[in-house]
Amino acid sequence: MSKNELKGRCPICKYLFEDCQCFYAGNAHPDRSKRQSVVFDHLYLFDRAQIRHIRKLQHHFLISYVDEAKNEIYKEILKEIGAADEAESDRSEKE
Ligand SMILES: [Zn+2]
Repeated sequence: MSKNELKGRCPICKYLFEDCQCFYAGNAHPDRSKRQSVVFDHLYLFDRAQIRHIRKLQHHFLISYVDEAKNEIYKEILKEIGAADEAESDRSEKE
């Protein structure tokens, strides 16, 4: 096994956390949407610092779905965790 080239880096754009490109360009330049999707599906691969970074990105992206049923499930989850206004609010995450 080779050494972990992603340690201390964003698993999506591979830049150091503080230089992460995902906050700025989104997925447009270059298109990282497929890599993002795979990263989000395999969170178990990443360490705590990377997970924390991915959580920040997900909060920043506020992903919505073409599939309306998924948007309904998202709203349902927000209610269940008592964060119904989360999507609209811009509050920073406390940790
Ligand atoms: Zn990134």
